[in-house]
Amino acid sequence: MERVYNFSPGPAALPISVLEKAQRELCSYGSTGMSVMEMSHRSKMYLDIFEGAVAQLRKLMGIPADYTVLFLQGGATQQFAAVPLNLGGTPDYVDSGNFARGALKEAQKYGEVHVAGDSSGDNYTHIPETNFRPDASFAHITTNNTIFGTRWPELPDTGAVPLVTDMSSNILSEVYDVNRFGVIYAGAQKNIGPAGVTAVIIRNDLLGRARKDCPKVMNWKAQTDAESMLNTPSTYAVYVAGLCLDWLAEQGGVAAIEKVNIEKAKLLYDFIDNSTMYTNKVLPEHRSRMNVVFTTPTKELDDQFAKEAGKAGLANLKGHRLVGGMRASIYNAMPIEGVRALIDFMKKFEQEH
Ligand code: PMP
Repeated sequence: MERVYNFSPGPAALPISVLEKAQRELCSYGSTGMSVMEMSHRSKMYLDIFEGAVAQLRKLMGIPADYTVLFLQGGATQQFAAVPLNLGGTPDYVDSGNFARGALKEAQKYGEVHVAGDSSGDNYTHIPETNFRPDASFAHITTNNTIFGTRWPELPDTGAVPLVTDMSSNILSEVYDVNRFGVIYAGAQKNIGPAGVTAVIIRNDLLGRARKDCPKVMNWKAQTDAESMLNTPSTYAVYVAGLCLDWLAEQGGVAAIEKVNIEKAKLLYDFIDNSTMYTNKVLPEHRSRMNVVFTTPTKELDDQFAKEAGKAGLANLKGHRLVGGMRASIYNAMPIEGVRALIDFMKKFEQEH
């Protein structure tokens, strides 16, 4: 079967060269005579794979030496709890979307939280104004809101207060200065690799502050001391993530892919803005480059669009139930040809309806 253009929000499309390499190496990795899936996570051959993936992420993001990189399980959702449990105090959280709210709600289980911004009132079609407090224990934002298709155009200045971010849906899609952050965490299944790995990047001075009741497996210091292997890591997912990171390096790295991502998003938004059928309600300066949401004039046409697009080899365009309509997730592995094919289909659909 021919491969489709997969616009899934995550788990998302992976580069075909990565899948083919994984396929070639599936039953025997190098000269080991065994699959990566069958290796002990403590073996030298596997540690080389794991450490190679960590090193590639460090290189791609320019992660400074005073930051620790962990590859953990549990997804971004586990970090919603791990963040307040590891950092404590009274933090600021910005409610800019469904996952941002999820992080906030989880933090509220462990103590008082100050809401430093909230755009729920307009169904999250913009990034809210903020009022961060200088004495907050940390400030939490979500750089890209996957469901609502918004992105912080600039990082907020929180002064000496550590900025903690859920970067799940736009990590590695654009250049960020890691020095601006106290903590960055991201589920892998959009731009890092397959589901099952969570990257957590922590400035070293923020390690060792965990509350006593923080579960050991979620304790960043304990995981740092155990080099992410307090328990068995997602060995195979980390291996595939490593292949994806190598692929990104071959594309010229984050700065190079950012240019392509800007072009892809611009093509799609320009087309939507100039069409009479499709609408995107997000404040233009706050539009996501990774998740482009749009609607037709009616729910019936939306449903028909997603169905017919699927038949035309453009998969997973149905929007999230909280927003309706369509969502095209165009992460790093979506080639510009995929975006062009989508626009061609949108034109045809517009003419026919
Ligand atoms: N945060 C954001 C921004 C997301 O898009 C998602 C969904 N992948 C999550 C958190 C939840 O991630 P996970 O499924 O890895 O827990």
